[in-house]
Amino acid sequence: MGKKNLIDEFYSLVQVDDYDGHYAKDIKDDDYFGMPLECIVAAEKRMRSSAERGIAYFSMEYGLATSCYNKFSSHLPLNAANQLPENAVFSNFRVADYFFVLHSDNVIDLPIYSGGLGVLAGDTVKTMADYKLPAAGIGILWNSGYFRQKFWFKYGQAPEKMRWDPHTYPGLVPLKNIIKISLKQEDVYLRLWKYYVYSYKHDAVVPLILLDSNIEPNSPRAKNLTDQLYRSDDVILKLLQRVILGFGGVSALNELGYNIGTHHLNEGHAVFAFIAKARGLANDEIDKLKDRFVYTCHTPVEAGHDRFSLDDLNKVLKKEDTDVIERFGKERPGLVNLTLLSMNISSATNAVSHNHQKVMHVQFPKYKDQIQYVTNGVHPYTWMSQKFKELFEQFPAAFSNFKSNPMILSKAAELKADSDFRGRLWQAHQSNKVDLCKFLDKWRLDKDSFTICWARRVAAYKRPSLILHDIGRLVRISEEIGPLQIILAGKAHPNDNLGFTYINEMLDKVDRLSEDYNKLKIIVLENYDISFGKLLTSSVDVWLNNPLPPFEASGTSGMKAILNGVLQMSTVDGWVAEATDRPIGAFFGYQNSEGSVGNEFDLHMNEDSEELYATLSGLTRLYYKTNQRGKVDISSEWIDMMIECICAAAQFNTYRMLDQYKHLIWKIA
Ligand SMILES: *Cc1c(COP(=O)(O)O)cnc(C)c1O
Repeated sequence: MGKKNLIDEFYSLVQVDDYDGHYAKDIKDDDYFGMPLECIVAAEKRMRSSAERGIAYFSMEYGLATSCYNKFSSHLPLNAANQLPENAVFSNFRVADYFFVLHSDNVIDLPIYSGGLGVLAGDTVKTMADYKLPAAGIGILWNSGYFRQKFWFKYGQAPEKMRWDPHTYPGLVPLKNIIKISLKQEDVYLRLWKYYVYSYKHDAVVPLILLDSNIEPNSPRAKNLTDQLYRSDDVILKLLQRVILGFGGVSALNELGYNIGTHHLNEGHAVFAFIAKARGLANDEIDKLKDRFVYTCHTPVEAGHDRFSLDDLNKVLKKEDTDVIERFGKERPGLVNLTLLSMNISSATNAVSHNHQKVMHVQFPKYKDQIQYVTNGVHPYTWMSQKFKELFEQFPAAFSNFKSNPMILSKAAELKADSDFRGRLWQAHQSNKVDLCKFLDKWRLDKDSFTICWARRVAAYKRPSLILHDIGRLVRISEEIGPLQIILAGKAHPNDNLGFTYINEMLDKVDRLSEDYNKLKIIVLENYDISFGKLLTSSVDVWLNNPLPPFEASGTSGMKAILNGVLQMSTVDGWVAEATDRPIGAFFGYQNSEGSVGNEFDLHMNEDSEELYATLSGLTRLYYKTNQRGKVDISSEWIDMMIECICAAAQFNTYRMLDQYKHLIWKIA
């Protein structure tokens, strides 16, 4: 096909708004922001073809970062609003905190996610592209993102509204297509945007459709609906954000003419898609519609199950819609539970780890037979550091095609006795660690000091400050065994008062530290995001994960770490419970008894911090036996464990995960 034809065909399929004025220089010939345009034309045609039915993946959030993946280029200079801001550091090296901030030239992550759920959705869509599946993602264009985290000295986290510019974000384009959704009181108009998620080989794409209410002729209130992700301070706004995803998503698929066989609800947030599809159907037809819906539940935490009163639903939705919602989602008179609704309208439901399945069976005994599990994963190509890709390339006999077949990473076991491999593995890790030291150079990290990191969303059940519970113990370990470098990062939801308290406590404890910085360094980073996630999960020696079992449905950051040979120090929860038979680090802490869920507010801080310090002492001792001031014992058990981590990564990735979704949930060949 000629270049001219290709661009014409693209434009007939994807009606980019203001193409001539704004995008013609970035989308031309066979080029889409520096990527092949051909894949887009092929995917758009395929989604509209009647030959096969596609998968529509609905998610409130998507974690995608141009800095780590899909490096789109643009002829426009990078808009300052889309550049990573300067971030502060809060540490017990106060002079550095006072004089310096962290700079980066990176483009910000596409600011339409809050944490692990979004990152999982992003990794899933990338893997769908790698697998060349006929699939599309549906999400929301959050005009003010989630929020920007600012630390206020001795106060804690001050959430700031974030500003970014979607019109100049590389790879993101507005379409001329405007759809309308009908609510009880008003119609809301939504503009469609597109972002294309490429396979890592750049030979296929999955279109991501993003909905945006910030347009005329919407009322000011309606314009605000797609402003900030997870607004929970106003119940009607919270409800309408979910309605937009469900109703808007179905309208968008119709508008684009996509042929969809399976609607995958990534969390119950998206369940109103079923209500939109059920419009005008008779009851028996509605029952048949279930065959086309599947649902993944991501949390056992109470606050994760959305509930709305029928009164509130009736305020915004038409009676024909609330009738269906009540029929399938009533928990008790007057109250609807979106988790129940989602399970009742789906032909397959899954939890996201084996442990989580057990918890769901306790929480929803009536649905026991229906609830399966598919353990989450991470996209290997995204999260494996460049140094580790190069390492595996140096051993082609073992890792022949690890990029397209990450399951082959289990062959690392065969290289256990190969001292060349062991040495290079250590070097690859050290060179990642040197990158971290450079990034934090003003904070004088030492590449030969034991370094541990806790970084994730700050939520009570994740116990963010467990490692700081008894600072005196940390001081003693650092004096008796060797120096400790501790890195912490994470955002708390702006309306989560408990989460806020944790950040406050963290900063306060670090502030009160008066010990020798060379022995004990504690560094808290502002604005944890995907680019920090990638840097930290690949460069520290040990990844700390200490949720209160059984409330971590899966967790994924540890999976990013094992891809890079980073040891785990973890409670036994989520995916980790499936890996405890592997020597990939050290496990500790409270465990709920089988068949009971326990109390998510009884955090077992005293007992579990005791166990944490004992475990930390053991790992620190082994670390300094292995790395004696830069003199490395290649035969150390530490390196055996690094190798076991890589073997485990063969299982805990999105390729294994998608194979299971195909087989168990989507039921496609
Ligand atoms: C991976 C990731 C998470 C999820 O971490 P968990 O260990 O599952 O809590 C959250 N935020 C970011 C930025 C991530 O990259």
